[in-house]
Amino acid sequence: MSFDTDEFYRKEEFFNAERTEKLNFHYKEIIKLLGENPEREGLLKTPLRVAKAMQFMTQGYYQDPEEILRSALFKEDYRQMVIVKDIEIYSLCEHHMLPFFGRAHVAYIPNGYITGLSKIARVVETYSRRLQVQERLTYEIKNCIQNTLHPLGVAVVIEAQHMCMILRGVQKQNSVTTTSDFSGAFEKLATREEFIRLISSRLH
Ligand SMILES: [Zn+2]
Repeated sequence: MSFDTDEFYRKEEFFNAERTEKLNFHYKEIIKLLGENPEREGLLKTPLRVAKAMQFMTQGYYQDPEEILRSALFKEDYRQMVIVKDIEIYSLCEHHMLPFFGRAHVAYIPNGYITGLSKIARVVETYSRRLQVQERLTYEIKNCIQNTLHPLGVAVVIEAQHMCMILRGVQKQNSVTTTSDFSGAFEKLATREEFIRLISSRLH
């Protein structure tokens, strides 16, 4: 993936000063409400760190995924399936604000236009860095590609583990939730099966 998240995280200008200050204040209150002392040495800088981490994990609200795709549209007659497999996902479930993480597999069949492969990963990244449910994340990635590239079809499969399930022991520790969404040509069984076959060596 061309998008270097570590580098992004180090960029101080990314964090909005006013938001950081307010989040810092509220996280200090939260620490108190949890029964801890925010003035003790180990916790002194924690509210500020969390304020920055949370802004990093929700940066997708300030990015436009359709614009990311439009910035790299190329006219091309290729009309076979284009697959980007194993895109790493780190997101936050909107019900518990706990991480869910896994991999996305995205395919489309061009209809006159293609986009840079790294842009597909950027779209996944942008929607992931918001408060999400896995089902909507899947659907939003599909819609974004469909609405921007107007391909013959889009397929998205996401497999992820949810900390809110793992921590509470609702299901087994290693349970994986799989969601999928298809449009256009992928609504045909044969096309969908080809896509599943091409990604299935890595599917759980
Ligand atoms: Zn949850």
